[in-house]
Amino acid sequence: MKYKSFSQKKLQICAFFCNFAPDFGIFSPKFTNFMPNSFVYSNLYRWYESNRRILPWRETEDAYFIWLSEVILQQTRVAQGLDYYMRFVARWPRVEDLAAADEAEVLREWQGLGYYSRARNLHKAAQMIVANGWAPFPTRFEDIRSLPGIGDYTAGAISSFAYNQPYPAMDGNVYRVVARLLDIDEPFDTTAGKKLFHQQIETLLDHAHPRLFNSAIMEFGALHCTPSLGDNCLTCPLQSVCLGYAHGTAELLPVRKPRPKIRERWFTYHIYLQQGQTCVNGQPSEIYTLIRKRENPKDIWYHLYEFPCEESNSEEAFEFTHVLSHQKLHARYIIHKVQKMPEIPGTMLIHWEDLNEYALSRLTLRVLDKLCTILPR
Ligand code: SF4
Repeated sequence: MKYKSFSQKKLQICAFFCNFAPDFGIFSPKFTNFMPNSFVYSNLYRWYESNRRILPWRETEDAYFIWLSEVILQQTRVAQGLDYYMRFVARWPRVEDLAAADEAEVLREWQGLGYYSRARNLHKAAQMIVANGWAPFPTRFEDIRSLPGIGDYTAGAISSFAYNQPYPAMDGNVYRVVARLLDIDEPFDTTAGKKLFHQQIETLLDHAHPRLFNSAIMEFGALHCTPSLGDNCLTCPLQSVCLGYAHGTAELLPVRKPRPKIRERWFTYHIYLQQGQTCVNGQPSEIYTLIRKRENPKDIWYHLYEFPCEESNSEEAFEFTHVLSHQKLHARYIIHKVQKMPEIPGTMLIHWEDLNEYALSRLTLRVLDKLCTILPR
């Protein structure tokens, strides 16, 4: 159903709810401006208490830890993010520790998570917090929002989870729940859509308990009002006020704007291997290889390391494919066993066994895993 205005939506919700719960006088149609937020809160919180996962970043009010978790969990599944979160917290337990680290160390610890700009921004933001005297972490929403890599969602999540401040935290799960509850078919990832959704969540937000509300609605979207609904609506505590369920549109929501065309690229990597000249105590000679740092800030994997690479438009079927959000990569690797390393601008000679010290893309790690039976590690 086409969304018209929020007050019309409220009327629809009240009318719909009254049909199903006529005994609730507070939902009488005469309360035409009444949104049954109290109904949503009580049912949502009861569901949350029974179903929530115990996650370390939800058991703390330390803003620095919450920030780490939020950045790590963007575009990342909880099971995968948990391991990274534990390692970051152990290695850099305070924002000052993270600020003092080398960017290369942070990228190395981030290796495998993808979207490396998140790690670079994390590091830059830590330095900014220390430089501005905001350590252990800023408390004002505006200061948090001004940090590199922090948008409205992350600033809202930190402000509410750490300080219980009344800011919404609209992640993908929350967009889905709100779109379905109110049957909004406006794409949520356009400027106009974001504004509309933001207005709705501001109205729905429990200003008395923002930490609880944001935690509960995010968890509800992650575990119950999931992209593929199955029978979940039948056991849903919000079913009686859900317009998407009433109109049969829930499974189609939320709506996204059309995705841009995926760009395809073909990479040929050259793995040069040179046996060292000296053997020590009968041990195998050291092996050297060439790697280089990616230096284009506008391209993928900025500041990550890779083997020397040629890009072409071959459109052949290469051995590896790797899908990023807007690009599909085809890759192949050619091994060159050489007596003398070629001179390739921008590369550096390293011991093969030191490869682990450098941040590599997930594609390179996949290839190394596959080749580990024939290549030294
Ligand atoms: S009724 Fe279904 S679509 Fe509506 S909130 Fe519940 S699970 Fe989501």
